Amino acid sequence: MPCYLTWAGPEVTDTIRAHLGESALYGGMISGRGPRYCPSIEDKVVKFPAAERHQVFLEPEGLDTDEMYVNGLSTSLPPDVQLNFLRRVPGLESVRMTRPGYAIEYDYFPPTQLTPSLEVRAVPGLFMAGQINGTTGYEEAAGQGAAAGLNAAARALDLEPVVLRRDQAFIGVLVDDLTSRGVDEPYRLFTSRSEYRLLLRQDNALRRLFPLAIERGLLSDAERRNAEDRLNREDSVLETADRTVVAAHASSALLSRVGLPPSANPVKASELVKRQGVGLVAALQAGGVAVEPEAVEWAEIELKYEGYLTREAAAAARVSRMNDFALPLDLPYYELGSLSTEAREKLTAVRPSTLGQASRVPGVSASDLQNLLAAVARRQVRFT
Ligand SMILES: Cc1cc2nc3c(=O)[nH]c(=O)nc-3n(C[C@H](O)[C@H](O)[C@H](O)COP(=O)(O)OP(=O)(O)OC[C@H]3O[C@@H](n4cnc5c(N)ncnc54)[C@H](O)[C@@H]3O)c2cc1C
Repeated sequence: MPCYLTWAGPEVTDTIRAHLGESALYGGMISGRGPRYCPSIEDKVVKFPAAERHQVFLEPEGLDTDEMYVNGLSTSLPPDVQLNFLRRVPGLESVRMTRPGYAIEYDYFPPTQLTPSLEVRAVPGLFMAGQINGTTGYEEAAGQGAAAGLNAAARALDLEPVVLRRDQAFIGVLVDDLTSRGVDEPYRLFTSRSEYRLLLRQDNALRRLFPLAIERGLLSDAERRNAEDRLNREDSVLETADRTVVAAHASSALLSRVGLPPSANPVKASELVKRQGVGLVAALQAGGVAVEPEAVEWAEIELKYEGYLTREAAAAARVSRMNDFALPLDLPYYELGSLSTEAREKLTAVRPSTLGQASRVPGVSASDLQNLLAAVARRQVRFT
């Protein structure tokens, strides 16, 4: 279905400016903080006064209707003002408005009240996912739904909870951010929220999560075979790259094609691919080996960025040791005099289950962590 692009120019923005006081968002009728990532046109006019125009997409609402969704002009202004400015958008001079836009206000339960398996600490057996936890977005709701569903099932079946690590999955980042740090505005999950962006890639998603799917019996036999087959093919490309030696004349020809100086000695395809502009398929071809291009992406990325990936994996392993240090959930933080008052308050509110989670609670400093470690160690000695 065709969509159309137009814009809100000065005629529209002047009208909006003249009526700002009538907007629910700007007139004080709505006090909550709106989603930062889909601002209303009022927001855009106020926050970007220098912008000459704002893009507007006209998107069909469905196959059986001639109604269009006006993407880019979300608003909480009164309907007569909406129609007024809509007709000032090029192409919409005679538009009919079937339904006015509206504002939404978010309400939520602070997600720091949840365990890392998304279970409400105060109500065992109750799991929460999605917007109720202070997030906005389809993917955030779906990701938490998967995590909370897995954990509700695990609880019913008496299995261990499923807590994805931050270096294992973006859902792990999402759940950890929510339960450790809480939210002060509608939360969206960006790749930039992860400190392990090189490890959390699309090409290795199967590799990262396949073991969990197997452990929890989530795959049919056919799906399992399919997945194993793909992983084996990828592994074999990596091994082939390490075994294949490219003669000096062949690698030089390849390097000169991408504007690099020739190599004097034979070189492994796994080394050759580290050069800028050299792809793994070409490097293997230069060594006389043909591979299926669709099985190559993972191996190519692993080889090209090996140094960076190793460094990130080592950082993840260091944090994982901290994550493995369990904190008793009934720790009386207020009695731990060596912690700062702020740390005692925040840790009591969040009740982290590991030292790693405690380290991500805002307001908990490195020295608080040292003192916490010492206090827990002392208690363990006392109780054993
Ligand atoms: C206008 C608008 C546009 C949006 N556009 C986008 C977008 O482009 N991209 C994006 O990623 N996100 C967008 N979002 C956000 C996204 O839609 C939500 O964050 C997401 O759908 C929330 O999913 P959820 O399952 O947590 O909650 P919901 O989808 O709200 O589901 C909650 C369900 O619970 C039901 N319910 C409530 N109370 C009870 C009760 N007492 N008993 C039984 N059932 C109950 C409700 O009827 C509802 O079906 C948009 C939201 C709005 C409002």
